[in-house]
Amino acid sequence: MAISRLLIANRGEIALRIHRAAHEMGIETVAVHSTADADAMHVRLADHAVCIGPPAAKDSYLNMAAIISAAEITHADAIHPGYGFLSENAKFADIVEAHDITWIGPKPEHIRTMGDKIEAKRTAGALGLPLVPGSDGAVSDIKEAKEIAEAAGYPVIIKAASGGGGRGMKVCNSPDQLETLMQQAGSEAKAAFGDATVYIEKYLGNPRHIEFQVFGDGNGNAIHLGERDCSLQRRHQKVLEEAPSPVISSEERNRMGGIVAKAMADMGYRGAGTIEFLWENGEFYFIEMNTRLQVEHPVTEAITGVDLVREQIRIADGKPLSVKQEEIEFKGHAIECRINAEDPFNFTPSPGLVTSYHAAGGMHVRVDSGLYAGYRIPPYYDSMIAKLIVSGRTREGCIMRLKRALEEMVIGGVKTSIPLHQKLLTDPHFLDGDYSIKYLEQWLSEDA
Ligand code: ADP
Repeated sequence: MAISRLLIANRGEIALRIHRAAHEMGIETVAVHSTADADAMHVRLADHAVCIGPPAAKDSYLNMAAIISAAEITHADAIHPGYGFLSENAKFADIVEAHDITWIGPKPEHIRTMGDKIEAKRTAGALGLPLVPGSDGAVSDIKEAKEIAEAAGYPVIIKAASGGGGRGMKVCNSPDQLETLMQQAGSEAKAAFGDATVYIEKYLGNPRHIEFQVFGDGNGNAIHLGERDCSLQRRHQKVLEEAPSPVISSEERNRMGGIVAKAMADMGYRGAGTIEFLWENGEFYFIEMNTRLQVEHPVTEAITGVDLVREQIRIADGKPLSVKQEEIEFKGHAIECRINAEDPFNFTPSPGLVTSYHAAGGMHVRVDSGLYAGYRIPPYYDSMIAKLIVSGRTREGCIMRLKRALEEMVIGGVKTSIPLHQKLLTDPHFLDGDYSIKYLEQWLSEDA
């Protein structure tokens, strides 16, 4: 049942990324696109293309019926959802499989479990992962909430069970704010996710965000591919990611990696996944698991040499993992800069016509982007237009190469976050690897 024609249910750089892996495996591709994306690079390169609806994502990239129809009329035998959109939608995964189309992703039941953060925490705890102290499950009663917050110690963070993308979270500093903030978090979550369920966690003072890449074959075998440090965030959105983390020793990587890989093996997890932790004073605290490919996956590819999309396709096709844990070597250092079409310092979106484009090149430089000169960046979607991924033997060498590569990038006609990255790369704390999840916002506000 080898996959021969793959439908890519996504857009932008990730659609192109998937197309590339498929073609390198001799698999034909089908692009689906909204009317706003008819001229997109992934549509041009794919073997077949189907328009699935108007610009609004809910009518196109989230339109399950249109995507399934596109797969049927083009005789696609597999669907890769990329990240975002339908990638963590268990119902969509079920529907794809019910149509005898191969779902390039985890088992639907695992997507479902991990999609509910309360269930995810419970499952992670049962699998032996260390958790952030807090409520055991949903909290609605204010008296109970006060007891939990007291036990965890203020400040606490109120989080939406169905949350994502940093939405539906409220930090609470004292008992008298708790009730109001719980109500606010609940109604925001209800509006954004259709589910008002919230839970409470200790709010860690100054942690780093460290996540492990895992891979399972669905039959009880699993590996880890080391960690990524994604602490540089603005509004809980990652801006720059690196692998390995400047603060994790190889012993610690092997120890924690072993724990997460065993957890995935015990669960029978299939495909790519990311286990996210906060890390403070040498301790890991599980926050959530993402049951999909991540935006920042290329830094892991750069230091391990494993093509994660190829691996996803192989696993979905029923093949075994292509590498054993003991064969994985972590070599050198890699950094990814997310390049957005926005003002680099006030972050207002800057969609529109790209008048000129030149991608950086040279040794160990990778640009994942669907941009070209004459392309019009539509205003309807995420502002990320390119990812620059650079690697080197050492972190210092990698940073020097990254500076050089950023100088070479030309994206004319729109504002981009390139100047922000250039400035960040001269910051002494960044250069020392000395930063937490709070650092970037502090740095931005001091600078203003
Ligand atoms: P989302 O799914 O919305 O991205 P996460 O649970 O992954 O939510 O959290 C996103 C970010 O919020 C984390 O990377 C971190 O910066 C911050 N955060 C989440 N939980 C805590 C916590 N308990 N203490 C401190 N910061 C937190």
